[in-house]
Amino acid sequence: AGQKANGSSESVEIPEIKFTKLFINGGFVDAISGKTFETIDPRNGQVIARVAEGDEDDVDLAVEAAREAFDHGPWPRMSGQERAKIMMKYADLVEENAEEVAALDALDAGKLFALVKAGDIPGSVAQLRYYAGAADKIHGEVLKTSQGFQGYTLREPVGVVGHIIPWNFPSTFFFWKVAPALAAGCTMVVKPAEQTPLSALYSAHLAKMAGIPDGVINVVTGFGPTAGAAVASHMQIDKVSFTGSTEIGRTILKAAAESNLKHVSLELGGKSPLIIFDDADVDVAAPLALTGILFNKGEICVASSRVLVQEGIYDELVKKLIELAKSWVVGDPFDPKAQQGPQVDKNQFEKVLSYIEHGKREGATLLAGGKPLGKKGYYIEPTIFADVTDNMLIAKDEIFGPVLSLMKFKTIDEAIARANCTRYGLAAGVLTKDINTANTMSRSIRAGTVWINCYFAFELDAPFGGYKMSGFGKDSGMEGLYK
Ligand code: ADP
Repeated sequence: AGQKANGSSESVEIPEIKFTKLFINGGFVDAISGKTFETIDPRNGQVIARVAEGDEDDVDLAVEAAREAFDHGPWPRMSGQERAKIMMKYADLVEENAEEVAALDALDAGKLFALVKAGDIPGSVAQLRYYAGAADKIHGEVLKTSQGFQGYTLREPVGVVGHIIPWNFPSTFFFWKVAPALAAGCTMVVKPAEQTPLSALYSAHLAKMAGIPDGVINVVTGFGPTAGAAVASHMQIDKVSFTGSTEIGRTILKAAAESNLKHVSLELGGKSPLIIFDDADVDVAAPLALTGILFNKGEICVASSRVLVQEGIYDELVKKLIELAKSWVVGDPFDPKAQQGPQVDKNQFEKVLSYIEHGKREGATLLAGGKPLGKKGYYIEPTIFADVTDNMLIAKDEIFGPVLSLMKFKTIDEAIARANCTRYGLAAGVLTKDINTANTMSRSIRAGTVWINCYFAFELDAPFGGYKMSGFGKDSGMEGLYK
């Protein structure tokens, strides 16, 4: 039975870890090699559980099962309505087990338990229901050709899909990827991040309970260069859908090209600008800018890591931002009062701290934070740098931590140029009351999503994906199903 969360004021039950083996062809199995790896609690560096370490041989088995389920199994041959019914059941089961799945993400990734339970999990349930609703509405077109023939197109499932997912939103990305593929009639192999394997295994168990046929969803836990690379280069996988770093995205695209030219969709890094114009309301803008970078401890690809502020509002906004940062609560992710948990692992913790040192050395002005917090776990203070110039490393690289770069601008043209002064193009935000400014900005910023007077406004039917080195392909919405 469970134990209480360490240092937490509320008594959240930490679940017993029930699933630690690979999920292949409807059953939990050890890795062929017998190897396991540790998944670590970022609150204290302790081992949560040992998980099966899959590699190429296990990926082969999983792909074999997925291939059989696609080529001969019932799933792609069912009507859309039959698939929808099972997906709805799956959604209900995820909803009923929200607390347990949320606790696994909180333990594995240091994410706030309350937020995962109230946000990530209902979001995943909604994804399943949205795509269940789409499963019987996938049609092609009738073509009237010029030569008196009649033609038609069919939308067919692409086949066996490999999903390689990151650690920052483990359950969210699992369902973002799995739900549209299920609706289309695909079968799949999921490779969760090695930092956060637990919720994917639990979700595979729920899939089985919902009645998803064996072989349709397979989960191979393990490391990127072994299990992940085997997925990317597999000759029997028809598509790989990847969310993660730009560097690994490039590796995956190369592996796809050098193996069987499988389809690839990549959702990669970002260095998203939030542009605040003089006419914005400071009391709205300051908290938005702060949560834009601190939400999920900055471990989110659309973090507003560059905040560009027009000169007229700059001083007032910065003052407010520092006040807010000082009262921001960093603490145990199971504590309902905490607003920010620990970074996911030691690597990330050290990487973020080294960027902070870079910022100081490069001459940016440190206005808040800048240090680790406490003696145990991977906690970092909310950190704000001002006077950041476009060529500093902290303005260019995706830090993936609670580190904000502030920049002052004068004109709209300068704002556009600086917002676009990045190799990434995932998202952006604009705060202004002027509709002309809003329209000009949303069309001038080269990013897949531009939020006006809001941030992190994810909608089920809105496609999500990047420009430039943030990748290509779409998740979410009907485009997420087609691409
Ligand atoms: P991060 O740098 O944030 O950890 P990565 O892009 O390295 O993000 O990881 C995202 C996912 O990609 C994880 O599931 C990881 O195991 C996987 N991965 C890492 N390296 C490779 C690789 N060479 N081939 C395939 N997948 C990989």
